[in-house]
Amino acid sequence: MTYLIKPHLHRTYPTVRSAKGIYVYDTDGKKYLDGCSGAVTANLGHGVQEIIMAMNKQAEQVAFVYRSQFTSEVAEKLAEALNKQIGYSTYWTFLVNSGSEATETAMKIAIQYWQEQGRKGKNKILSRWLSYHGITIGALSLSGHPMRRARFVPLLEDFPTVSPPYCFRCPYGLTYPSCQWRCADELETAIIRTGAEHIAAFIAEPIIGAAGAAITPPDGYYERIYDICRRYDILFIADEVMTGLGRTGKIMGLDHWNVQADIIALGKGLGAGYTPIAATLASQRVMEPIINGSGVIMSGHTLSANPLSASVALAVLKYIEQHHLVQRAHEIGTYLFMKLRNLQKQFAWIGDVRGKGLLLGIEFVVAGKEMVPSDLAFTDLVVTVAQQNGLLVYPAAAGNGKDGAAIIIAPPLTIERSQVDELIDLLEQTFREVQRRCP
Ligand code: PLP
Repeated sequence: MTYLIKPHLHRTYPTVRSAKGIYVYDTDGKKYLDGCSGAVTANLGHGVQEIIMAMNKQAEQVAFVYRSQFTSEVAEKLAEALNKQIGYSTYWTFLVNSGSEATETAMKIAIQYWQEQGRKGKNKILSRWLSYHGITIGALSLSGHPMRRARFVPLLEDFPTVSPPYCFRCPYGLTYPSCQWRCADELETAIIRTGAEHIAAFIAEPIIGAAGAAITPPDGYYERIYDICRRYDILFIADEVMTGLGRTGKIMGLDHWNVQADIIALGKGLGAGYTPIAATLASQRVMEPIINGSGVIMSGHTLSANPLSASVALAVLKYIEQHHLVQRAHEIGTYLFMKLRNLQKQFAWIGDVRGKGLLLGIEFVVAGKEMVPSDLAFTDLVVTVAQQNGLLVYPAAAGNGKDGAAIIIAPPLTIERSQVDELIDLLEQTFREVQRRCP
């Protein structure tokens, strides 16, 4: 027993010893296939020498300076490299340390954008149910994640109002394409009700992660959302913390559709687990009134833009490019998706397999499409049995956010085809055991 607060104080956790590639090893010598890159973070896999060497070199030179006193070559290069990767547009980069800080900073930049133009009333951010934008109070206010909100509801702003594009459980009982994107049009209704003069931005995860197990909207959805945002003078924030930097088979998740966000939040894959680093990217359009106005973005953290973390992110971007990981995520992801669909045929309680690239979700059902009741703690059972079998999978919410069970499968983008087969074998073994325990 130690005094380290772990996620669940009534449980014991294996102690990690080392990790290499897509495998993690504990101190008992047990091997785990990392089927979810930790928390969809270790996108390059573990122990990549190029990243370790870049980190060492930077640590020797200078690890930390305070951003109010110095800039650094490495942080400047990182902002440049992000623009090069994105390719189609210019974004300014604000460096932070976690995804929650990135979305919270996005919220603040959106509000400031309107303030700088004298429109001080535009300070609400609309978002969707079944979304997760972070755990700090601001980011949690944006998040439609009932379980994570529950304890803090009185402290939270009442932001989420719009239904997610959840075709598997369409809130209107419609099907695509005859639905005509009714869920997207909810945004317009919400804007009219709230008053566009009070709204700064709408935030969405291009593909819904922790709160929806890779819920992927139908084509045309984001184009419609973007059009509504433009018509009502509202910024569009893409939370690419989970979907960004190649994970879905495009450099940004939103690139699957014909839309460019005004503000982008990045995290997870930016440091790929080698260091805490995240970023908020603001388009030229968003930056202009700030540049021509106060010239100061009212946010920042002590460790923002520290050279050590910036060197890691820069090396990660270089690695993604040199190893064609975006294309790889698409190709291997297509193979993994097909394998998961085959697995679905064997288990009646796999209701849906969805996602893009290497961000794939499995939603479980009871009978037909019924949601798994929360008191069964089914997701927990699947995750636990998988871990006992040496496979890491990521728990996700689904259904109505309370009832419903789902997992995310999101291995490092460096996974080989033969390792996908190994992942599938372990998953099948896990599902068989779960079926034995829950007939
Ligand atoms: N946004 C999305 C889409 C996420 O998936 C997460 C974390 O899971 C966050 C924000 C918060 O990131 P962090 O846990 O790094 O604060």
